Amino acid sequence: MKIPHIGIIGGGPGALLILMRILELEGADFALDIFESSATLGAGMPFSYRGADLEHDTNVSEEEIPPFKPSLSEWVKSRPPYVLEKYGINSQEFDETCILPRLLFGEYLKEQFDILLKEAEHRGMEVKVHLETTVNDIKDDIKKKKTAIITGDKTYLFDTVIICSGHFWPHDHERELAGYFDSPYPPSKLNRVFNHPIALRGSSLTGVDAIRTISRNNGIFNHENSRLVYTKNENAPDFKMVMYSHNGLLPCVRIHLEEPNINNSDILPTARLKENMAENEGFLSLDFLFELGYKELLKDKDPEFFAQIKDMKVEEFSKYILSKREQRDGFELLREEYLDGVDSLQTKRPVPWKEALSAFSFALNFPAKHMSAEDMIRLHEHLLPLVAIVIAYLPPSSCEELLALHDAGCLELVSVEKFEAKISDNGKIVCTCIFENKEDIVIEYETFVDCIGQPNIQFDQFPFKSLITDGTVSPARLNFKSNKGHQNVDGLQISDSFQVVDEKGEANKRIYLLTVAFMKGLNPDYSGIDFFEHASELVVKSIFDAKI
Ligand SMILES: Cc1cc2nc3c(=O)[nH]c(=O)nc-3n(C[C@H](O)[C@H](O)[C@H](O)COP(=O)(O)OP(=O)(O)OC[C@H]3O[C@@H](n4cnc5c(N)ncnc54)[C@H](O)[C@@H]3O)c2cc1C
Repeated sequence: MKIPHIGIIGGGPGALLILMRILELEGADFALDIFESSATLGAGMPFSYRGADLEHDTNVSEEEIPPFKPSLSEWVKSRPPYVLEKYGINSQEFDETCILPRLLFGEYLKEQFDILLKEAEHRGMEVKVHLETTVNDIKDDIKKKKTAIITGDKTYLFDTVIICSGHFWPHDHERELAGYFDSPYPPSKLNRVFNHPIALRGSSLTGVDAIRTISRNNGIFNHENSRLVYTKNENAPDFKMVMYSHNGLLPCVRIHLEEPNINNSDILPTARLKENMAENEGFLSLDFLFELGYKELLKDKDPEFFAQIKDMKVEEFSKYILSKREQRDGFELLREEYLDGVDSLQTKRPVPWKEALSAFSFALNFPAKHMSAEDMIRLHEHLLPLVAIVIAYLPPSSCEELLALHDAGCLELVSVEKFEAKISDNGKIVCTCIFENKEDIVIEYETFVDCIGQPNIQFDQFPFKSLITDGTVSPARLNFKSNKGHQNVDGLQISDSFQVVDEKGEANKRIYLLTVAFMKGLNPDYSGIDFFEHASELVVKSIFDAKI
């Protein structure tokens, strides 16, 4: 039997889960090379200093991640006291429901990678890790049925290549002007005194990351009578952050999850999806998915809420929830949701409408590429803005900080329809606030941080250029049901098993793409370890079904 030689590009959490899945297959024999541009495996971008500092927490607990051994809580409890002290963790209180600092989680993932590599070695598999090695290009040879990974000076040939190169943050403007930050990553770049107002675009978790770093460098948090209070540093009397957010929305607060480990085939069974496609000219209907994947889940869990929304389409449902939030002052609502979230976590009280929405948006990821372009547009315009707020699951600790900053007059929220920041000809940051019912306001800022999260990355920004020039990859696209035309969406076209698809529409049997930045168009809620837990299963099944 021929042993497949697999090359993985990127050694972050995505690659870790691929390795975990391969080792789960009894009898799978393989040779593996992993190429990682940094000096460590496992932590990737969000769980290393490239995406976090001491103040940043995960948004998942042990309950929401794959069943690693040792478990996360066992591992945390076995850390030396000085490590726990550094991260402010009380090991007696740490359990499977707790979130933790991202950097500490990165250490755990690194250790998990080491454990799996040892297991592979123990099973006699050949695994080579190429650290501090950046892959510059990939070339596919159809005749030889091999794919080449090209690093600085070497070319390696593989039977299968899995691209797990993760996040991709542009630095276009920050190279041009000090004070303009294209993203808050790495956070170390925000470690400075800002004695002036700072504009932030976006109020979701990326914004919260920026706020936690900037606030620590310009003031101090203290507990006064069990309430968190923020005081500005003496050298930053004019420090203030202004968050510009679409319709003044802040993310929802973390709640107790009754079923933290989502199984998408329970929510959207494949047979039902196939039936719907057969009845719908080959397209999956968003209305059908919403009925099956959301309303069905709520019927028994929250009959009262179900009764209120049972006749609504996604448009009406999103409007129903969002307009209730938009009418409220963002911080007032946050204070209320904080108390409610803490109560839900402490008493283990579920909030079915939120949990079901999170489960639905997760399950929707995988079949979404079979929707029509019309339905994808509806999804993006109506449901995803709501999903982004609900599934953010802001940890109570972050919430306390936002409220303390707001109470100290250091954090403001401005509701806008749209917000643009540009560098003017004379080198100033000019921000335009666009409102629905009043005139635009233009303000100059000395500092601007773009906090919209992983930005949309276009097809031509894909870094492995030979795959573009040889036509091995093609832009992600969706067909319209009404006029048979099509629309290109962000990222690359991929099959149900995450194989890249060529210009002729054929899935490539050797190259798999799991790079978050280039999957966004077809996987609308792609991000998170739980996503990779399922996606890695699909990839590994596809590779080994074909080869064993
Ligand atoms: C700020 C932030 C916080 C997040 N927090 C959470 C969280 O708490 N919980 C959660 O479940 N998800 C979180 N996520 C989602 C996150 O996308 C995934 O959980 C996970 O990190 C994705 O893993 P990855 O390996 O695909 O990508 P990455 O983590 O980006 O890892 C990709 C790796 O590939 C390497 N690489 C890239 N290009 C090359 C190249 N050309 N050659 C060689 N190596 C290369 C990089 O160095 C990196 O190590 C967060 C995302 C962000 C941005």
